[in-house]
Amino acid sequence: ATPTAILAGTGRGAQLGILIAGPEALEQARRIDTVVLDKTGTVTSGEMSVAWVRTLDASVSEDALLTLAASVEDASEHPLARAIVRSAEDRGLTLEPVSEFRNEAGRGVVGIVDGVEVRVGRVVTGDADAAPIAAVAGSADASQTVGAAPVADASAGKAVATTAAEVDAVIAEFSGAGQTPVLVRVDGAVVGVIAVADTIKPTSAEAIVRLRELGLEPVLLTGDHELVAKAVASEVGIDRVIAGVLPEQKAEVVAQLQAEGKRVAMVGDGVNDAPALATADLGIAMGGGTDAAIEAADITLVRDDVNAAVDAIRLSRQSNRVIM
Ligand code: ADP
Ligand code: MG
Repeated sequence: ATPTAILAGTGRGAQLGILIAGPEALEQARRIDTVVLDKTGTVTSGEMSVAWVRTLDASVSEDALLTLAASVEDASEHPLARAIVRSAEDRGLTLEPVSEFRNEAGRGVVGIVDGVEVRVGRVVTGDADAAPIAAVAGSADASQTVGAAPVADASAGKAVATTAAEVDAVIAEFSGAGQTPVLVRVDGAVVGVIAVADTIKPTSAEAIVRLRELGLEPVLLTGDHELVAKAVASEVGIDRVIAGVLPEQKAEVVAQLQAEGKRVAMVGDGVNDAPALATADLGIAMGGGTDAAIEAADITLVRDDVNAAVDAIRLSRQSNRVIM
């Protein structure tokens, strides 16, 4: 959708804050039966904050863990990164210089801090087995919560391995509560997990009810952990969840649904969502979304509310062939 085409979307749509690229978009909107919703920034506000900092290595304090993570995340614009940096600032921590910074879209960030490789990012399936596990010096207590004094006991001299099961348990605990678990790895070993909380938009559940009333099936699509996605989905009333999807796979998921015979609308806001918005029969971008998402979409919503997407579909069904 070119900016000119978006401007052409006048009339009732514009009054409702729905900018429609052209008459074809309205035709498509009438035919769709499935609405794929991006989680972060679409169903949720995307305004994230650190809920917990959990160290899994007794030689690394919570503050040290947060400092490492925030130092690497400082160069990232991702909402998870912004939350981690803000949390470090709130604690008055001083960030470390980082070299060889790399952003891995949909996965996380990596950089060298003080001679070690620090990787901050997602849980990848099978990860815990593939990655070396942190050696916990001294204390076998691998479950310190916020506020607990970290035990630095390198002098004990014996390394007690944090098991993959322990890492998995922490991940399950956070994600089951709807918080995104962000793993912090030093030279490949998991040294801690930071839980980042997002908030569900207060209007999302109502919008899902309205979608169903129109006979549309909602599907939640996200790069986030499956348990986080399921927690959000159950809260807003979505049954079908497709989680752990890498940015480059989002469009494939839409194509797969189309191959199942579904006529798919995709609602999203991120750069990562742009290919999926373009692949969908109808792409709907949230108003607060990125330029890439708006460019790829057939409809742009002025309101940052899933209800506006429902309004757009309803409007297209009510209207005559061309309303503009
Ligand atoms: P979504 O599909 O929810 O918009 P993304 O595709 O941006 O999410 O990211 C997917 C997952 O990759 C996140 O849930 C997170 O686990 C991880 N991730 C991406 N970027 C970062 C980052 N800068 N720091 C930590 N983790 C990240
Ligand atoms: Mg998003």
